[in-house]
Amino acid sequence: MAPRKFEKILIANRGEIALRVNRACHEMGIATVAIHSTADADAMHVRLADESVCIGPPPAAQSYLNIPAIIAACEITGAEAIHPGYGFLSENPRFAEIVTAHNLTFIGPTAEHMRLMGDKIAAKAAMRKLGVPVVPGSDGGVAGDEEAARIAARIGYPVLVKAAAGGGGRGMKVARGAEGLASALSTARAEAKAAFGDDAVYLEKYLERPRHIEIQVIADSRGTVLHLGERDCSIQRRHQKLIEEAPSPVLEAKERARIGEIVTRGLSKLGYLGVGTVEFLYENGEFYFIEMNTRLQVEHPVTEFVTGLDLVREQIRIAAGEPLGFTQKDVTISGHAIECRVNAENPRTFTPSPGLVKAYHTPGGLGVRVDSAAYSGYRIPPYYDSMVAKLIVHGRNRAEALSRLERALKEFVVEGIDTTLPLFAEIVRDEEFRAGDYHIHWLEEFLGREG
Ligand code: ADP
Repeated sequence: MAPRKFEKILIANRGEIALRVNRACHEMGIATVAIHSTADADAMHVRLADESVCIGPPPAAQSYLNIPAIIAACEITGAEAIHPGYGFLSENPRFAEIVTAHNLTFIGPTAEHMRLMGDKIAAKAAMRKLGVPVVPGSDGGVAGDEEAARIAARIGYPVLVKAAAGGGGRGMKVARGAEGLASALSTARAEAKAAFGDDAVYLEKYLERPRHIEIQVIADSRGTVLHLGERDCSIQRRHQKLIEEAPSPVLEAKERARIGEIVTRGLSKLGYLGVGTVEFLYENGEFYFIEMNTRLQVEHPVTEFVTGLDLVREQIRIAAGEPLGFTQKDVTISGHAIECRVNAENPRTFTPSPGLVKAYHTPGGLGVRVDSAAYSGYRIPPYYDSMVAKLIVHGRNRAEALSRLERALKEFVVEGIDTTLPLFAEIVRDEEFRAGDYHIHWLEEFLGREG
């Protein structure tokens, strides 16, 4: 099929990611349509888009998740394609199907692959079949407590109870021994039911000190599947990422090539399309698949810094049917990038801190990027995600990136609300962090040590 050219794209999101997509569209000469709730009428993403449509009241369920209103906004404005960003409807296969049924293009993978990877039990089974190493665990969902106890005894404690529909670290509970299993199961089921409306859970071996290393993939409609190296996202709190870096401080080029080859071979067999991230835990030199995200990730800028690629531009080109136009050999990892998620939260208690941003000044200079929709006088609404900005730095090597991060953090001013900025200033000075010597529980240990 001959590639097409989009004239106008609707961005079905808000905040920094809506701005991010808007930027790529404008650089490609594509007009943009913003959607917004009544709480976001003055938001930056609305001001910078070419057109905007109000799609409902503040609660996301009635606005950013309101599928009929979003489709109507496309029809009113003549937008031909929808970029979903991350979060909201970005991993909703039903949404992708409805978009396609209205002769619009969904900028993302096929609904079939979104559905497969959205079910974490099915995703693990599929990956195992495709030759990708997975975390040892139950081969499917666990129905009753007795079956769970049998499986847990086989894989060995500690075990992790996880929600099949999981996301955002919710519905996950550790059982250190047989006596704790029943309560871990019931808590995880209740949390999963409340968060996802689905209480299906499965078991995994709980790894004590792994790193979270994820592989960025990109695939076009001509069958080319490439990887863009890894991101190390081990600095987490409650299973939520706070700092991400590329490349990982512990991965050698040979290992990168090996896991990249396994992942791209698997996804080629699947016929994957678009960008995606295959997430692994990495311990003692072994990779264990945990899940795949079929969308752009929050932390994509670190990959953009080290590869020089614009991932949103690539997503749009792929959706238009264009070939990638480069090969695995053309992908080079250059220097080192680190991202900090600046959240509107108390840096110690992590209590959300929405409200008026009285003063806002972002750092700049060589190798510094800030992705944010905030400004002086902006009132952070309490309805949505607490992330106010992403600070991303790039250096020729990790040492340079660290110095640049330390310097940029000193320049960053956000007044009127609490943010996680002071925490990053502490972390960046820590010897272990500087040495790259950390794992997924490191931050919680660090907070315990400091507090
Ligand atoms: P979610 O979809 O909720 O983000 P993931 O499966 O991606 O869940 O896991 C999120 C985080 O939880 C991982 O980055 C890791 O820190 C932790 N985690 C997940 N599985 C395991 C495991 N088997 N052992 C130890 N930690 C795990």
